[in-house]
Amino acid sequence: MQYLVGVDIGGTNIKLALVDKKANLRGKRTFSTTSFKGKTALINGIVSQIENLISSQGLKKKGIIGIGIGAPGAVDIRTGTVHYLTNIPDWREVPLGTILKKRLGIPVFVDNDVNVMALGEVYFGAGKGAVNMLCITLGTGVGGGLILDGKLYRGSSYAAGEFGHVPINIDGPRCNCGSWACVEAYVGNSYIVKGVVADIRSGQKTLITKLVKGDLSKITPEIISEAERKNDKFAKKVWMDVGNKVGIGLAGVVNLLNMEKIVIGGGVAEAGKVLFDSIKKAIKLRAMKLPAKTVKVVKAKLGYDSGLIGAATLVLYELEKENVSKN
Ligand SMILES: [Zn+2]
Repeated sequence: MQYLVGVDIGGTNIKLALVDKKANLRGKRTFSTTSFKGKTALINGIVSQIENLISSQGLKKKGIIGIGIGAPGAVDIRTGTVHYLTNIPDWREVPLGTILKKRLGIPVFVDNDVNVMALGEVYFGAGKGAVNMLCITLGTGVGGGLILDGKLYRGSSYAAGEFGHVPINIDGPRCNCGSWACVEAYVGNSYIVKGVVADIRSGQKTLITKLVKGDLSKITPEIISEAERKNDKFAKKVWMDVGNKVGIGLAGVVNLLNMEKIVIGGGVAEAGKVLFDSIKKAIKLRAMKLPAKTVKVVKAKLGYDSGLIGAATLVLYELEKENVSKN
């Protein structure tokens, strides 16, 4: 059996695992990003974790087809350059792909974390077989990955797919990216929570207050969902409002790209039916008839391991492309 190595680099944790060609994981391990002080220590850590992972499973490097890495932010795929890593202050423009390939002697591919997730969902998950698809993640940030005409669409400087930074209003809250009124500035985790706290402070009655025993700093999207499942009207309204805003953003994309599927993952997607119904309603109301009728909005399937499976899928995708161009 031949294996791929998937690496999922996040702000808090780095996960890695061996992945077979059917997306089964083996030897999964997680280590804390912040346990490494600085760029060099982190690169050394990744190298030794990968070597250790391979040998601990009784394998040799030559049994590994390739290493796929998903990293946050824009990634220059030619050199696998990751521009920034939150929590690693001296990490600037690091050609991680080139470095790892040299040190490990295995092909390495690096791309944005949501791009690789989109590939994972198309090969093995909720987007299986889709030719035109947008995959978005709703969480602390709002990310996106685009599959167009069966290919991952990366854009002219590898920065495409940023659904979270599509503006949905003329004026509005300031966004982390420096702009205003982006989707993320309304529906990123912290913005949802901030809105809920403000409403409660101005007298809104809700079960959420009881669930956090009055400590409003403990409010999370999970708590809001718990209240919603217990039929709290306010919590339901929160998710309907989030869904409406996401849906308005998506309606523009649906008109622009006429894709067949939108796959939605990330922590906030766990809000479930009320959120998805609201998203679908907004798309139906706002997008043009034909593309609105065509598009299906579904929940991501790969769940917690989507980053790892996606990273490994990137290797399959890139090698398939190489084979096609050779033939
Ligand atoms: Zn933005």
